[in-house]
Amino acid sequence: MAYLCSAPTNHQLVHNMAAHGLISDDRVQAAFQKVDRKNYVLDERDAYIDSPQAIMCNATISAPHMHAEAAKSLLPFLKPGARVLDVGSGSGYTCALFHHLVSPPGAEQAGTVVGIDHMAELAEWSRMNLAKDGLGDALVNGSLVVLCGDGREGCAAHAPYDAIHVGAAAPTMPAELVKQLRSPGRMFVPVGSGAQRVIQVDKDAEGRVTETPLLHVMYVPLTDPEAQAGRKLF
Ligand code: SAH
Repeated sequence: MAYLCSAPTNHQLVHNMAAHGLISDDRVQAAFQKVDRKNYVLDERDAYIDSPQAIMCNATISAPHMHAEAAKSLLPFLKPGARVLDVGSGSGYTCALFHHLVSPPGAEQAGTVVGIDHMAELAEWSRMNLAKDGLGDALVNGSLVVLCGDGREGCAAHAPYDAIHVGAAAPTMPAELVKQLRSPGRMFVPVGSGAQRVIQVDKDAEGRVTETPLLHVMYVPLTDPEAQAGRKLF
């Protein structure tokens, strides 16, 4: 799948993802078009290649097609006004994508996107990326927040969340994040320490939780800063 949707421009990259059926919703396509991936990578020449790229702190920005898979899974819970937690927010790309979905212009009520990364350097860099990508006002008015902290604990201050996206692989299902999901709500979380699989976690209106395994993947681990500093990237 990697490289499949690669293109010379952001517009064409998003177009290719739609043509390959990775984006099938107009609202999602419009949101992707508003996020220019060149603002979230270290080397602009890599911006529209459909593969993960190294950023800082031994982390990667995920491949565009994985961002599309996450948006597809979470879409029913990314309505205008919704509250979203993005754990392991890294470059800030997914924070921007979710922001455009939950706080579209003219919405009665703006949504809230909370990004959390445990590397202070990344949290700071992502805020710069988001401002470069036109989201400076959202950072100022609080509809978009990027925090530095241990995402395994979620962010109780803004809970419960309609949608939780986890951009790093948890060794086991992170119980605190399941707790912070709204009833109803949905989480997209890669789980596993060797073989990893994305699990879609649904909490229904009565608080019942079900898990649906989706794709086999290879994400950076959801871990502590020391372990991340010591790991080899590729
Ligand atoms: N969605 C991001 C993915 C970045 S890679 C993007 O596409 O840019 C995964 C991120 O998870 C890294 O930035 C890493 O620093 C972060 N991370 C790993 N363990 C974490 C933890 N315990 N708490 C918060 N962030 C964590």
